[in-house]
Order: sequence, then C-alpha cells, then structure tokens
Amino acid sequence: MQNKINNNNTEQAPFQWLTIYYAANAVEANIVKGLLLNSNIECQLLGESLQGAVGEIPLEQTQVRVQVFVIKERQARQILVNYTQVQQSAPAWVCPNCNEHNEPTFEICWSCRTPNND
Ligand SMILES: [Zn+2]
Repeated sequence: MQNKINNNNTEQAPFQWLTIYYAANAVEANIVKGLLLNSNIECQLLGESLQGAVGEIPLEQTQVRVQVFVIKERQARQILVNYTQVQQSAPAWVCPNCNEHNEPTFEICWSCRTPNND
C-alpha cells in the first residue's frame, strides 16, 4: 500500500477487527453473531475452538470474543445494548424436567430439550 499513514495508534484503521463482546460460551457467541449478521454487520468469533477442551482449561479462557470491524463499532454496540437489555429483563429459567439452569434466550433446555413454556 502506498501512502500508508503511521500515526501510532492515535487512530484505528477502519478495517481492523475490534472485540465488541465477550461471550460466556460458544452458544452465546453465536447468538450475538446472528444478531450482528441480521443487521449486515460482518463479524468473527475468536476462541470458539477452545470449547472442545472445556474442563481442561480455566473457565475464563473458554470465553469467546466477538469481533467486528472498527467502522461498525457504533452500530454493533447499539445492537448489543438491546441484546443485553433483553437478557436482563428475562430471568434465567430452571427446567421443570431436569432442573438445569437455562439462559433466558434458550427456548428449550440445553440439557434435555424440554421447551420452556412460561
Ligand atoms: Zn432439562
């Protein structure tokens, strides 16, 4: 590239990946990814491949990072604000069949697939 500007981190390149969300696991990361893709915001997940090794590595390292391009940051944050507000307003639910705790966004129990009929 010609005319490359080297202004030492005072400005970020518009097409650099930026971590916008730390998902607790791959399932949540894919929910967020779906929301972003629905709004035509390109995104990538980092750390998803670690999910196979859960139990062997510290829990905080199983987090999945959701990244978007810097130029999409504002738009993506708006979507995530809506997403986290929905999450906070909906409590986690306990499966009536197997008593497992489920994320509010899950419509069926992750463990036994019983539907959440609230
Ligand atoms: Zn269940």
